Amino acid sequence: MTDKIDIVALGGVEPGKPKKARPKEPRREIACQDAKARIRNFSEVALGYKPEDAVYEAMRCLECPRPRCVVACPVHIDIPSFVGLISRGEFSEAAKDLRKYNTLPAVCGRVCPQENLCEAACVLNDTNPGNPVAVGRLERFAADWVLARENGTVRQAAVEPTTPFKVAVVGSGPSGLTCAAELAKLGHTVHLFEALHKPGGVMMYGIPEFRLPKAMVQKEINYVRSLGVVVETNCIVGKTFPIKEVMNEYDAIYVASGAGYPNMMRIPGENLGGIYSANEFLTRVNLMRAYDFPKAGTPVKKPKNGIVVGAGFTAFDVVRIMLRLGAEKAGIVYRRTRKEMPGRGEEIEHSEEEGAFIQELRNPVRFIGDERGFVKQIELQKMELGEPDASGRRKPVPVEGGNYIIDADLVVVAIGQSPNVLIPSSLPNLSTRWGSVINVNRESYMSTVPKVFAGGDAITGAATVILAIRAAKEAARAMDAYLHDPKRKWFPPEVSEKK
Ligand SMILES: Cc1cc2nc3c(=O)[nH]c(=O)nc-3n(C[C@H](O)[C@H](O)[C@H](O)COP(=O)(O)OP(=O)(O)OC[C@H]3O[C@@H](n4cnc5c(N)ncnc54)[C@H](O)[C@@H]3O)c2cc1C
Ligand code: SF4
Repeated sequence: MTDKIDIVALGGVEPGKPKKARPKEPRREIACQDAKARIRNFSEVALGYKPEDAVYEAMRCLECPRPRCVVACPVHIDIPSFVGLISRGEFSEAAKDLRKYNTLPAVCGRVCPQENLCEAACVLNDTNPGNPVAVGRLERFAADWVLARENGTVRQAAVEPTTPFKVAVVGSGPSGLTCAAELAKLGHTVHLFEALHKPGGVMMYGIPEFRLPKAMVQKEINYVRSLGVVVETNCIVGKTFPIKEVMNEYDAIYVASGAGYPNMMRIPGENLGGIYSANEFLTRVNLMRAYDFPKAGTPVKKPKNGIVVGAGFTAFDVVRIMLRLGAEKAGIVYRRTRKEMPGRGEEIEHSEEEGAFIQELRNPVRFIGDERGFVKQIELQKMELGEPDASGRRKPVPVEGGNYIIDADLVVVAIGQSPNVLIPSSLPNLSTRWGSVINVNRESYMSTVPKVFAGGDAITGAATVILAIRAAKEAARAMDAYLHDPKRKWFPPEVSEKK
């Protein structure tokens, strides 16, 4: 598709002339809904670049011959190439270029921690500190441009399987979708099984609409379908049908079942009403649209005083939802300090703009209920930082006598997730560590069970979208080699190791 863009009017590269990059100019900010307005709706906060913003930003890129950003991107997107296309007004070509490396560019452009990846490595940081090329925003712009114009599907030539091999993929998060797409492109028949009624994994049930619109995720999934992947929802492999059936029917299996099992605090009072795991709370609100109850069938507690325990991606998503549900006060309780918070800087900033408070160096030790069995207060212990632990972060240590009580009528525990034990318990020879994280061979992604491969959060524990995508791409290449190998050689992991 050729874009009809007046690139000269937009300030881009004139046809037939060389690019005169403008690296010294400040990077273009993205328009956002005003904080006061946005806490009254669930619509997307960051509004995205207009064509003139995208061209301005793309004109800042030097298109380095040895780009550090490409090395820093886990899937090594050719960033100068797609950014260069934007500066020349070839937006659809830029999106096509992106898809060669990344099945989900509209998602990654929004949720990748770019500030620690491609953008951290941008050479402009050396001369114009804090002003790297806004790679993520440009990725989002190009991907959205095409998704909006092609009615949700980047059309492909009808993809017919060209090999006799059948592959099953378990789980339709970013890892399952990417592996399925890569294997379909290689000519295999791919069936993708998803436990929930909608495909997308955490992108659908975890990350809220105001950060990642669900219509956008479904459009990206339509692209995967357009490659010939058959997506079957409401199928819990290991429950709806035994995994043995899958083993008999398919030549290879990719397990991308994620890390959806919530970790809880295991302290007194945790079973009181009004206390949710982050997964339950987010699934109710995002997937079942509980914010629209009773129009939607699923309710959720609307808080006066909401407290979230934890300070990662999940915790900040939850506190922002609490504010949108009408909480008078909503905040984060975290046992370390701001410096150690795993949440993204931008999300922390947005949460505070919306009115969330943060209590650092605090840890709940007890939940206190009312006469009806619902939470009404939390006993918090003051903490201080001690010596670094195994993760290199300073360990939180309780301060004796520093306990006090705060009010809370809704508590969400967001202290991490682990992979579900269902698949490991259905495959007795599957080696795991920490009870449910699947061990795989570092190069081949093979597990200890022949023809079963695995990737994404299922092999690392909770991580990021782009790492789940990288695992899927590498695993798909290894699976393709395995399928074509007449001896079907198997290289299981030798030792438990984190990928
Ligand atoms: C609230 C929240 C916010 C986040 N925000 C970000 C962010 O901003 N940026 C970022 O990079 N990362 C973020 N993450 C992390 C990121 O979403 C995950 O790392 C990523 O989704 C992992 O992808 P996956 O494909 O491995 O698993 P998932 O996305 O978890 O998908 C696994 C899928 O498998 C399905 N499944 C499980 N068992 C079975 C079975 N037996 N049969 C069939 N289907 C099964 C599940 O229903 C699920 O749909 C966030 C996570 C959460 C929870
Ligand atoms: S996928 Fe993520 S790391 Fe790679 S270029 Fe896009 S935003 Fe940057």
